[in-house]
Amino acid sequence: MRILPVLGVTSLSAALLVAPSPAFAGGAQPLGPTATGYGGAVSTVDPTATAVGLDVLRKGGNAVDAAVAAAATLGITEPFSAGIGGGGFFVYYDARKRKVSTIDGRESGPATMKETHFIDPADNTPYDFQEARVSGLSVGTPGTLATWDAAARKWGSKSLSSLLEPAARVGDKGFPVDATFRQQIADNAAAFGQFDATKALYLPGGAPPAVGSTQRNPDLAATYRLIARKGIDVLYEGEVGRDIVKTVQNPPVSSTPVGTWAFPIRPGTMTKSDLSNYKLRFPAPTKSKFRDLTVYGMSTPSSGGVAVSEALNILETAGLSQSDVTKALHYYLEASALSFADRNRYVGAYTPQKVLDKLVTDSWAKQRACQIKPNAALVKPVPPGDLNATGCTPATVGGPTEQGQSTTNLTVADRWGNIVEYTFTIEQTGGNAMVVPGRGFLLNNELTDFNFTNTQAPAADPNLPGPNKRPRSSMSPTIVLKDGQPFLALGSPGGATIITTVLQILLNRVVLGQSLPDAMAAPRASQRNSAGIQAEPSFRTTYGPALTALGHTFGPDVPELGAATAIEFTRGGGFIASAEPARRGAGAAGVVHPR
Ligand code: GLU
Repeated sequence: MRILPVLGVTSLSAALLVAPSPAFAGGAQPLGPTATGYGGAVSTVDPTATAVGLDVLRKGGNAVDAAVAAAATLGITEPFSAGIGGGGFFVYYDARKRKVSTIDGRESGPATMKETHFIDPADNTPYDFQEARVSGLSVGTPGTLATWDAAARKWGSKSLSSLLEPAARVGDKGFPVDATFRQQIADNAAAFGQFDATKALYLPGGAPPAVGSTQRNPDLAATYRLIARKGIDVLYEGEVGRDIVKTVQNPPVSSTPVGTWAFPIRPGTMTKSDLSNYKLRFPAPTKSKFRDLTVYGMSTPSSGGVAVSEALNILETAGLSQSDVTKALHYYLEASALSFADRNRYVGAYTPQKVLDKLVTDSWAKQRACQIKPNAALVKPVPPGDLNATGCTPATVGGPTEQGQSTTNLTVADRWGNIVEYTFTIEQTGGNAMVVPGRGFLLNNELTDFNFTNTQAPAADPNLPGPNKRPRSSMSPTIVLKDGQPFLALGSPGGATIITTVLQILLNRVVLGQSLPDAMAAPRASQRNSAGIQAEPSFRTTYGPALTALGHTFGPDVPELGAATAIEFTRGGGFIASAEPARRGAGAAGVVHPR
């Protein structure tokens, strides 16, 4: 995989075919960003993970089996984004029952977590973000392994043990280091260099591994096989859990660090009982209508489902069409800002269902959309709406904007029509930088997704730390049905930009009528209720002049937004599997029977 400049075209695809790890026997076929055909489909950011998922489908496994096997492989090949040290949200469409279900495998805070968790007692000010991140304080109780286990038991057809084995083989035999993998280590070298286990795995000889060298992870392979033999209790009750708690409570800081780290590395308070008390949740998905589509997303503690639905509802009030791209983008940016204002003010782990339900109604969308002017952008930040008002009257406080860069997303569909849309993460690229010694996986820093101080004063902030609380997420695994049949499944990493990336791909596909690969490749912009829009350079050069004329302002460009995966369902049981043609070094889409 190579990092290429972001281009809004798909004709580059052929140049970007990438081969999966040769260690994986089923993966001889090079994979590109688009695949069409039948029999099942997989899209991930990584060719080896996609190949593993396709192999499971070929051998008769269903979408859940393939998703779990691919996810476990990403734990080896995308270790800086996701793995059993983290958490995520799993959305499943059961074709026979025609039902969408979700698993909330989000990390939770320790039972002793206080609102002041990220306030330095020495001076009563919040920790610097990096100081909070590279510490034991940031680590939430991981939910990923429990998610895989529950998904396999509830909806899979194979044992978790058998689904971990292909990933364990990749860990043993290795995979080729690409430019993205190397760069993610280089960006984290100072943090990784503070811990012997992280150094040994990712800074061989004190530097990031060379592109083209073989990366192995025998410790994680052994951890997967231990789980396969003894079950997930080894993490939640047993020896792996003991090592996690030890790492959190006594960060294993190296006596021979590589590079220097500017902050003290603080211990956290996670205990063995936090691990043994960890519980998955199975919340009902968010559900809303957009034109003739029904959109299902992830409910709290993710804000993704609510924010995507609210923004789509606002867009629907505008009568958008393919013929006026500037108008569509203007409303896209305004709808994003308005939904972010509401999300920041109202959405957190404990938001009452009544409030969540209200935020995704058409009447709420009307109350919010009435502020948008066709010819002049709103001044940002916009205030959130007033839940008790009925007219066009905003409340009086604004909100923050956040951005992360890590996380990974995968989309799988099987020949029976079942779908998995799964986003999982360890938060920042590289998580909290601590590989659990002897176990081969990085710990998350998910608790830094809490706001460190009240961002909504004088109103309450729904996303402050608390005992056992789960931090608000932006992850937006989304499944869209049309006339009761699967139409599209999609998701992306990118912190708070996840919401706008998912929204923009839907806008491109459904409103602007682009093909799915074009909708994925198109240049992106993100307006999260702050003064300047964050945009990829090609978005600003293409659409900036027309949008600036309407009063929109752009912040500094960002090289890229998101790393999405998606599958579209075509008539007669066909699939268009789609991954990024360029972002994050390009993704890998495949189908069981290519057309
Ligand atoms: N921790 C973020 C969230 O849950 C995701 C991080 C990322 O995608 O970079 O929203």
